[in-house]
Amino acid sequence: MLPVQTDVLIVGAGPTGLALAAVLRKAGVDHVLIEAREDAQNTSRAAVVHAHTLEMLGGIDVVDELEARGITLSHFTVRDRDQALLDLSFDQLPSHFRHLLMVPQSTTEAVLEERLTALGGAVHRGVAALGAVAQTDGAAVRVKTAAGEQIVQARYVVGADGMHSAVREAAGIAFDGADDAESFILADVRMAWPYGAREVSMFFSPAGPVVVAPLPDGSYRVVATLENAPAEPGVADIQRLLDTRGPVASCRVTEVGWASRFRVHHRLAETYRRDAAHVHSPAGGQGMNTGLVDAIVLGEALTRVLREGEPETVLDDYARTRRPAAAQVLALASRLTRVATVRSVAVRRMRNLALRVLNRLPAFKRMLALGFSGIARRRFSVLPKTGPAINARQQRRPALVAEHRLAR
Ligand SMILES: Cc1cc2nc3c(=O)[nH]c(=O)nc-3n(C[C@H](O)[C@H](O)[C@H](O)COP(=O)(O)OP(=O)(O)OC[C@H]3O[C@@H](n4cnc5c(N)ncnc54)[C@H](O)[C@@H]3O)c2cc1C
Repeated sequence: MLPVQTDVLIVGAGPTGLALAAVLRKAGVDHVLIEAREDAQNTSRAAVVHAHTLEMLGGIDVVDELEARGITLSHFTVRDRDQALLDLSFDQLPSHFRHLLMVPQSTTEAVLEERLTALGGAVHRGVAALGAVAQTDGAAVRVKTAAGEQIVQARYVVGADGMHSAVREAAGIAFDGADDAESFILADVRMAWPYGAREVSMFFSPAGPVVVAPLPDGSYRVVATLENAPAEPGVADIQRLLDTRGPVASCRVTEVGWASRFRVHHRLAETYRRDAAHVHSPAGGQGMNTGLVDAIVLGEALTRVLREGEPETVLDDYARTRRPAAAQVLALASRLTRVATVRSVAVRRMRNLALRVLNRLPAFKRMLALGFSGIARRRFSVLPKTGPAINARQQRRPALVAEHRLAR
C-alpha cells in the first residue's frame, strides 16, 4: 500500500534512489521510494565502482557483499595498440580500498535493494510520478499506480529518476551541456584476451577510445565511442572494433552477451538541489559513482534536517558541496576523450612520448589515480557543520521541490 504522506518521496529506484533510501532507512527518516518499472533491471550497464564510492557505501554496509559478487583490480593501463603509455596503480591509494571493483549494475542494484529490505525498507514498484505541485510545506506529487492515480504529499521530493528526470522537469531546472551527443557501444563479451583479467585497459585511438575491463563471470566489458553503432552489436562488430583500435597481439571474441548502444550528452543540471543532476560518458565509469556519492551525502543532509533539527540550509550546502564534484568529473571525461582521439600522426607521436615520460613521474601518476578513484574529490562529500535550526519558523520553511505542473 502506497502511503499518502511522507517526509521524503524518492522518485526512481536505480542505484541513486536505492542508496538514498537505504541511508534514510538506516537513520530512521520517514521516506517512500517509488519506481515506475514493475521489475528490477537485469542489464549490466555501469560496471565499475571506484574506491571513494566504496568508502561512502561503507556507511550502509553493502561493501562486503558487493566485493563478494565482483572482482577487484588495482591496475589501469593506457595503451596505443600494444604500446603501454601509462600504467596507473591503485595499490598505493590513501584509502582502505586500494582497488576498483568491477560488478554489473544489476548486481549493485540487487545488493542495494537487499540491504534496503534487510533494514525494513521497500521499493514501491509500478508507481510512476506524473507531476508535482509546490505547496507551503512541501509538494503534492501525482503518481500513477496499478489502481489508478493518487497524490503523495511530501516535505521533500528527490528526483533520482535518471536522465529524462520528471522531477527536474517539474522543478524547472535547466540541464545544460553540449548539444553534440557522443554515440557509444557497450558489450559484455567472452574472448581470448592478451592482458587477462588483471587490469582495466584503455586504448587511445584516432577513431575513438576503447576500454576493456574484466567482469566477475570471466567475460569482458568493452566500451567504445562509435558513430552509427549497430543496434545489436555482434561478435564481428566487436572483433572489428578491437582489431582496429585494440591490441595488435591477437584477441579473439567468441561470444557477445549483453550489448547496447546509446548516445550521451555531457550535462550538468543548473542547480543541484533536489535533483537528478548529471549525465556522463560511460568511458570514465563515473556516472553511477557520482550518483551514489550524491545519494549518500544527500541522505546525510536530509537526516540532519529531518532528524537532528538542523536548518534547511544544510540542503543548500549539499547542492554547493556536490555540484563541483560532478563538474570536475565531466571535465575529466572530456579531457580524456580529447587526448584519446588525437588524429594527426605527428601529434599522436608527441602525445605518446609525453605520456611515456609522465609515466616515470610518481607524483603525476598519483594525481591521476586519485582523480580516477574519486579520492581527489573526497572534500566534495563532506558537508559543512551547522548548528540546530535557529527557530521553529525557519524549520517550517516550505520545502520547495517542484515549481511547475508536469504534463507527461
Ligand atoms: C545502456 C547503458 C549503459 C551504461 N553504461 C554505463 C557504464 O558503462 N558506466 C557508467 O558509469 N554508466 C553507465 N550507464 C549509466 C548508468 O547506468 C547511470 O549512471 C546510472 O544508472 C544512474 O543511476 P540513477 O539511479 O541515477 O538513474 P537510473 O539508473 O537511470 O534510474 C532511474 C530510475 O528511475 C525510474 N524512473 C524514471 N522516471 C520515473 C518516474 N517518473 N517515476 C518513477 N520512477 C521513474 C527508472 O525506471 C529507473 O529505474 C549506462 C546506462 C545505460 C542506459
